[in-house]
Formats: sequence, C-alpha cells, structure tokens
Amino acid sequence: MRGRAQRAPSRAGQTGGAAVSTLRTRFAPSPTGSMHIGNARTAAFAWLLARHHGGQFILRIEDTDRTRYVEGSVEEIQDGLKWLGLDWDEGPFFQSQRLEIYRELAEQLVREGKAYRCWCSPERLAQMREEQKAAGLPTGYDRRCREGAPGHTPGEPHVIRFAMPLDGVTEFHDHVRGTLSFENALIDDFVMLKADGFPTYQFANVVDDHLMGITHVVRSDEWLSSTPKHVQLYAAFGWEPPQFVHPALILGPDRSKLSKRHGAVSFREFTQMGYLPDALLNFLALLGWSPGDNREVMTRQELIEAFDIPGIVNHPAIFDRQKLDWLNRQHIRMLPDGELARRVKPLLEEKGFGGLQDGYLESVVRVMKDRLTFLHDIVELACYFFTDEFEYEEKGGKWLQDPGAAQFLEGIADALKDCEWSDAAIEARVREAGEKLGREGGALIHPIRYACTGKTVGPSLFAALETLGRDRVVRRLRRAADLARVQ
Ligand code: GLU
Repeated sequence: MRGRAQRAPSRAGQTGGAAVSTLRTRFAPSPTGSMHIGNARTAAFAWLLARHHGGQFILRIEDTDRTRYVEGSVEEIQDGLKWLGLDWDEGPFFQSQRLEIYRELAEQLVREGKAYRCWCSPERLAQMREEQKAAGLPTGYDRRCREGAPGHTPGEPHVIRFAMPLDGVTEFHDHVRGTLSFENALIDDFVMLKADGFPTYQFANVVDDHLMGITHVVRSDEWLSSTPKHVQLYAAFGWEPPQFVHPALILGPDRSKLSKRHGAVSFREFTQMGYLPDALLNFLALLGWSPGDNREVMTRQELIEAFDIPGIVNHPAIFDRQKLDWLNRQHIRMLPDGELARRVKPLLEEKGFGGLQDGYLESVVRVMKDRLTFLHDIVELACYFFTDEFEYEEKGGKWLQDPGAAQFLEGIADALKDCEWSDAAIEARVREAGEKLGREGGALIHPIRYACTGKTVGPSLFAALETLGRDRVVRRLRRAADLARVQ
C-alpha cells in the first residue's frame, strides 16, 4: 500500500527522448450492492485506457458509507473483474482503512480557513430543508456555522464542511463533454468528514485520486455534477486535478434508462449466462466508444491497441442484448478448435457426456462452432454426437412416415457401408444413391439428417456424418428404417 499522505511518485517513461508521466486510471466502486453493467463498462474503459498507454490500473474500494455496505459485494467486484480479465496493478485499497489520512487533510483545510466545523443537528438540517422547500427555494446548507458557531467545541460531535467560493464559476474540461462551467453559488458547502469520522465520497475520492497519482478519472456521467466540488477541493489543496473522462449514460433499446426490464441484470449473472469474457469485454468497449472504422468484432488485443479517449462518443450508448449475443457467436467462432473443445468439455461432462476423446470433441466443435450462441448450446444442439439415445424431434416425424422412407434409408445405409469416409466422398455417394432411389434436394438430405441426428436442422450434413463415423451412421440409418416400417 502507498505511504500515507505521500503522493505516488510519477513514473517516468521515455518516449522519443521526452519523459512523460505514466497514465494511471482507477476503478473505484462502492460496495453497496451488485456490480451492474454500467460499473463493468466504467472498469473496462479505465482498464483499456491504462493498457493502451502502458499505464497502470488501480482498484479502490470506496467503502465509506457504512449504512449502505452490502456484505459480499467486494468479492463480487473482484470476481467480476477477474472473470473479465481486467487485472489491476495496485490495490485493492480500502478507504475505510485510510480514515486517518482523510482526517488529517480535512483538519488542514480547517486550519487554512477553507473548511469549517458544523454542529448543526440532523433535526435542524431536516427542518431547514422543509422550510426551503415550502418557500420554493433550492435546498442546501444555509452556512450557519461557516462564520463560527459560538458555544460549540471540537470535542462535540460535528461534521467538517467545505467552504465553497460564494460567487464565480468553476470551470473544467471533460474529454467527452468539453468545457463545462458551474455556478459556485449553487453548490452546497458539502460535508467532507461526517460525524462518525468517515469521509464523504466527494472528499475521499479527491484525496485518493491525488495520493494514488491518478492521471485520468474515468467514470459514468452521473458523477459530472460532483466534479466542480472536486475541482474546488483540488484548488484548495493546491493540487493539480486529474483529467476527466465521463462517458455518456447507457440506455435501453427504447432509449429509456437501462433497467432490469431491458435484461440488464447484475454483472455476475452475465458471467453465468455463457458469454465469453472476451465477447463481453468487446461489447462493453463498444458501449460508448468506437474504433473509428467499421470494426465491431475485436479481440482483447485489438481493443487494447485501438482504445483511446478520442474514440469515446458524446451520446448515450444503447444496450442491446441481441448485439451481445451476436458478438458472442463471433467470438466463439474465433476460438481455435482445441480451445473451444477444452471449454465445452466440462459443460458436457456436467450433463453426463463424459469420457470424450479430445480429437473427437475437436471435430464436433469444428462442425458446430458456427451454430453456437453460447457454449452450453452444444449440449442441446449436438447431443447426437455424444449418445445414440437422442430424441427424434416431433416436427421431423413426417420424414419417417413417408411410405418410401424405410427403403430409402436402407438404400443410403447400403451405399455408405463401404464408402471412403470424408465429407466429399460421403456427399458424392449419397447423391449418387439418391439418384438411383429417385430423390434429390430436401427429400434426400432431410430424412438422412433426421435419421442420424433426430433433428430437422443442423450443421452441414456431410461434415456431421463424417464426424459421427461410418458405423454409427449406418447403424442409425437402419434403426430409423426400422422405425419407419412401424409407422
Ligand atoms: N464510488 C463511486 C462509485 O461507486 C466512484 C465514482 C468515481 O469513479 O469517482 O461509482
């Protein structure tokens, strides 16, 4: 962990002779509930930016609001980041373990007259707010303690508030939103340190971003309205503020605020639905960023190479599950056969399809890979590769009911029993036999597929037959012919 009130030494790197400080970003979640897709997007942006620039990514847990602390969420955050492959270089730092640092720095601002103690009771503040509302005024602290509160001592419970400038504006540049300006008079003398000794988000966030040497603050734009407070705190300490990057909101496909209704469940659920980490990272990166060309399907390495601030767009990102599913399909297709086989093996074992040879499984995934949206789809779509006891889909029943079916299937079995076993040779033999048996097109292909797989659709038939193997194919054709006879 970094030394207490020491600023992180800026890491100098050499680029073309000029020393530049290393870019440092952070992910600073509050452990107040499930990590959701918005948090994951923020983490992905901050991580990609750091990795693109060869910088550092820091994990900081902002656990200063004890009333909202949710047991297990720190683990959930770390598990989510690990699953996504967002490794952090430092941390996790816990703000709850740094209370002394915040207290000392708050006291420093009190001594310098830039912050003040406030003894107003919660009851008084509530009453003040009611009166402001009744009078149609904006609510906010009326600054009663700003000029001193006679009769009170620092030993009594109190908070420390920041003394905002009373006039003028606070201006800052955001890389996504441009230059923004806020009127100081409209900003509260916000609390920095609460009566329980814990800092508020505003204060601890600024202190830590400074002490941890964060150069780029990446966070969702719901925090934009807090940023002028942060900028004033930096000024009060005489610290240089970091650069700000506030990507726009994520909306549902109907352009309303993203919610459960749009399938935006907790991030943990996404990790359990069968998405590949690289596909989800690709999807998150495209939620408000574009590589500037037409690319959509990008590997982790391609994302790292292309991701930078200018590509972050200044309009809301649309969360589209269909696009995520599509990206998952593309990423499954990009996996080498051996790797895909390795990943589906445990899913198949779980369903009782154990003892599969690696070579066989590789040939199955080679045939099936274009048809999988999720890895676990293989269990349902390709079960006939793993057992003879598959079910025949009801809707294909007509292929066995047709009066010539038994004879046709026996004819194909005879034709294949001594066929050279490659998809091209199988195809040639089937077509030749089909001609003799007076069948072509669908009437040729569908009954064979149904007989050997129990399905009416599937991958290339001849490649599937090749993978199934001659004995199994001939046996299944004859078995289906028997079934057809009793129809
Ligand atoms: N703790 C804040 C959150 O939960 C961090 C916001 C920021 O990145 O400054 O999102």
